[in-house]
Amino acid sequence: MDLSSYDIGYDIPAKPGMSATDIQTPALVIDLDALDANLRKMARYVQQHDIHLRPHGKMHKSADIARRQHDIGGANGICCQKASEAEAFIRAGIKDVLITNQIRDAVKLNRLAQLSATGARITLCVDDPDNVAEISAAATQHQTTLSCLVELECGARRCGVATPETAAQIAQAIAQADGLIFDGVQAYHGTAQHLKTHAARESEIGIVLHKVRATLAELQAAGLKARVVSGAGTGSHVIEATSGLYTELQCGSYAFMDADYGRLHNAKGQRLDHGEWTNALFVLTSVISKTETGRAICDAGLKAIAMDSGPPVAVDAPGVEYTGPSDEHGILLDPKDKLRTGDKLRLIPGHCDPTCNLHEWYVGVRARKVETLWPITARGKLL
Ligand SMILES: *Cc1c(COP(=O)(O)O)cnc(C)c1O
Repeated sequence: MDLSSYDIGYDIPAKPGMSATDIQTPALVIDLDALDANLRKMARYVQQHDIHLRPHGKMHKSADIARRQHDIGGANGICCQKASEAEAFIRAGIKDVLITNQIRDAVKLNRLAQLSATGARITLCVDDPDNVAEISAAATQHQTTLSCLVELECGARRCGVATPETAAQIAQAIAQADGLIFDGVQAYHGTAQHLKTHAARESEIGIVLHKVRATLAELQAAGLKARVVSGAGTGSHVIEATSGLYTELQCGSYAFMDADYGRLHNAKGQRLDHGEWTNALFVLTSVISKTETGRAICDAGLKAIAMDSGPPVAVDAPGVEYTGPSDEHGILLDPKDKLRTGDKLRLIPGHCDPTCNLHEWYVGVRARKVETLWPITARGKLL
């Protein structure tokens, strides 16, 4: 390795063309063949089921991956969770963004209306009649149009209206407000995504389908048409896609996968990481200390890997268990005592979304060589 390339390891963890074994750690590494296989698989799925795909950008936060999801993954636009995240994507050239969340702040709405006036297509979710007036004020001030979906509460008891009647009343208010387009309904059940069996997810999503059907009937009775019914994640999307009710899937994690999703079972009782999706996202870490038998210390701690959905899995070292992370250290329990200082190993994060938000770069690897680096465009965009 050319040690004179001093910018590696300061600004960037790697350079295109170098061997994957020379990547500086800890780093977020993408297996590009696995990513492309996941994107192509989802593209085939939505084509076969005649449904649109609007992948959730909060997962990868990368304009490059959003473009790849469009070019080879059959996606139309993306989803975001935050106004500043939407702005980062729009500035990077992604021009059709659905914010799957409530925006209740005049400053944020003003920014979104400004971006809309520059030609971006922005859709917001609404669960309160007062928010209709707020969004309308921002749109009219900038002489632009913002699209709105009424959000239904789906079981996670987070955002969303409780009843189809309230949904229709808000839809009516949107349709009558200046500068707004009533475009349809968002119905996403977040906590149902991570139920272990397909049957458990089917039962929870069944309740959602009932509510969506009742809401569409209320809207029709009010003379309103929902052009869009948007929702679903990686865990449940086969249920929404075959319901005959949804027009658009919002899956995010399918592109990368993580250890938590890998443990779930599909309808045939197989793990999702055996036969459905391929792990494409890894935190590459190095052993930096080895002073005790059966135990090694690596350089990836809480600032490199999110732990909210459990520890990462050491995929290259069967039998090794990652545990007890602190800020910059992880403990690798190594019962066979095989690890040595300088060893590099890949960890599959427990939860992909918050792990990606910790890093500045994706290092794209194919055939053991670094092929590309992608900045994490909307990293840290929480506003
Ligand atoms: C996170 C999220 C998704 C994507 O879920 P995955 O489980 O990552 O596929 C879809 N819709 C909304 C509203 C979300 O917040």
